[in-house]
Amino acid sequence: MIGKIPYFWDFWLLIFSFQSYSILITLDLDKNYSYQKPSRGKYKLATKVLILGGGFSGFFTARHLKKLLKNKVSIELINKENYFVFQPLLPEVAGGSISAQNAVSPLRFLIRDIKIRKAEVESIDRETQTVTIFQGVQRRPTHLHYDHLVIALGSDSDLSRTPGLQEHALTMKTLDDARKLRAHIIERLEHADITQLPEVKEGALTFTVIGGGFSGIETVGEIKDLIDRSLKYYPNIKASEIRVVLLEFADRVLNEMPASLAEYAVEKLKKRGVELQLRVGVSECTGTQLVTTTGEVINTRTIIATIGNSPSPVIKKFPIAQENGRILVDQNLKVKETDNIWSIGDCAVIPLTEKPEGRDDFAPPTAQFAVREARTLAQNIKALMENKPLKPFKYNSKGALASLGAGRGVAEIFGIKLTGRLAWLIWRAYYILFLPGIPTKISVLWNWVMDSMSPRSVVQLYSEKTPEARYIHYRAGDRVYEIGSKSDGFYTIISGKIKITGVDAETGKENSRSLIAGDHFGERLLLGATRRVATAVAEEDTKVLVFTQQEFLKFAEGLPFFKKYFEEHMKASGLDKKEIQ
Ligand SMILES: Cc1cc2nc3c(=O)[nH]c(=O)nc-3n(C[C@H](O)[C@H](O)[C@H](O)COP(=O)(O)OP(=O)(O)OC[C@H]3O[C@@H](n4cnc5c(N)ncnc54)[C@H](O)[C@@H]3O)c2cc1C
Repeated sequence: MIGKIPYFWDFWLLIFSFQSYSILITLDLDKNYSYQKPSRGKYKLATKVLILGGGFSGFFTARHLKKLLKNKVSIELINKENYFVFQPLLPEVAGGSISAQNAVSPLRFLIRDIKIRKAEVESIDRETQTVTIFQGVQRRPTHLHYDHLVIALGSDSDLSRTPGLQEHALTMKTLDDARKLRAHIIERLEHADITQLPEVKEGALTFTVIGGGFSGIETVGEIKDLIDRSLKYYPNIKASEIRVVLLEFADRVLNEMPASLAEYAVEKLKKRGVELQLRVGVSECTGTQLVTTTGEVINTRTIIATIGNSPSPVIKKFPIAQENGRILVDQNLKVKETDNIWSIGDCAVIPLTEKPEGRDDFAPPTAQFAVREARTLAQNIKALMENKPLKPFKYNSKGALASLGAGRGVAEIFGIKLTGRLAWLIWRAYYILFLPGIPTKISVLWNWVMDSMSPRSVVQLYSEKTPEARYIHYRAGDRVYEIGSKSDGFYTIISGKIKITGVDAETGKENSRSLIAGDHFGERLLLGATRRVATAVAEEDTKVLVFTQQEFLKFAEGLPFFKKYFEEHMKASGLDKKEIQ
């Protein structure tokens, strides 16, 4: 338990360190992070800059361009959401130390005199210089012309390479992911507190995080903090029953930091009860298990994947120079073989030298770099418009910071290594400074102060919903459901084999049948069944597609041939004779 008094003093220490380090940090930060006043002028010029993506790179590009070129350009920014997400704070949202709305800021507020369009980018056409988007509920495509195009769409997650990971892992990229994770953890604690089944309790209280980079380490630290500080509300859960595991395939965590700081992070997390497994990856997952590359089978209901960054699907379709789905740009941030298309941030491969060779010769996918890339990009668009030479992107990281949760952190600033409470305070001060918009800074600071003085809330406002049509992965021997359990879905087998064992309605004897890919089961939902009359077990590793009861019944109602097929199938296999429960 963390006492109130030390935390209270932390607040003043935070203010103090904020004061002392702000001078150091501002040396390296843009001086115009607070919001700009709306300009009253009208756009007069034709040069249209279209920015795709409103994350760190897109948002800061828009802001720098407006500052540099004022009304000489017409800037339009397109983003899926109407807000900017401060991704480094997502683990804190998951851990509950700040509320979800404080990790985001409305784009319209942050950049008021730029056109913001909440829409989804679908494709880019170089020939016609247009971008096709879909906006709001409108199904008709909208085409937008550009003179300069900035692609800043960030990255996506692709977990499809590991069996079951895509279907069963939670991710940590968006605000929704962070909210879902918090709700999921609280749901597991609620369930563990009341279940009588030891196996179910063990699964509910085992939390696994895959990936030991910044987001994995910060996420594991924050969720451990949430669990530890919530336990006092769950009298039937002992601290010794909690298992929090972090898997990292490499031989160290926090690759971007010096080895000594990574070692400190490992020691601190271990002391707080996090089990760190290095040189261990994930080989398979189901809804109830994670199998590691060393063969350990972990009974868990929580798998958080912070690995598997993949390129944006829009970029993959775009006929442009790419490397593994990321856009190849030159040192000036201009897309290779184009005159007016630029790309920065996580979606671009940005060389830092003329002849890049190793990994260190490319800009890393971090917010710290994205913000600086945005500044160079805006300067280069201006230079091109004024027929001046372009400037190559150059930036040397001034350091790195990571929070380990529970008031501890690691930091390297201008080569100085810091650990513990001081590093954590600097981490917080830095992010307060970095956050765009004064109101967001104040709200986050206020959240932190309140969190330090009050217990962690276990209110679950965002409840976990059963996803609609979804894939589930089972390992050989896994039980899909058993006789008497709730009939909540209709299953079709995508691959593998399922054995259904029931009791013959006429003879009363047990009988079983094996179903293979293309077969289905659970159709008695049509007859109004609410309980299973058979047990289904995976005979081999199996993937199924599950429709919820509501979805299945809607299909049957809307498609008469669909309903007829299942009625005939149930008649032929005698399923209609079984008692309805
Ligand atoms: C949990 C976590 C912690 C992190 N911690 C740190 C840290 O401590 N320090 C650090 O420097 N970096 C950190 N990072 C990395 C950092 O957040 C990213 O490098 C940075 O966000 C990249 O900026 P970006 O603009 O390229 O992409 P993003 O910020 O991801 O922005 C991309 C934007 O494009 C939008 N978009 C995507 N596709 C479409 C489409 N088809 N149509 C419309 N809009 C679309 C998205 O909605 C999003 O708003 C962290 C990342 C995560 C996930």
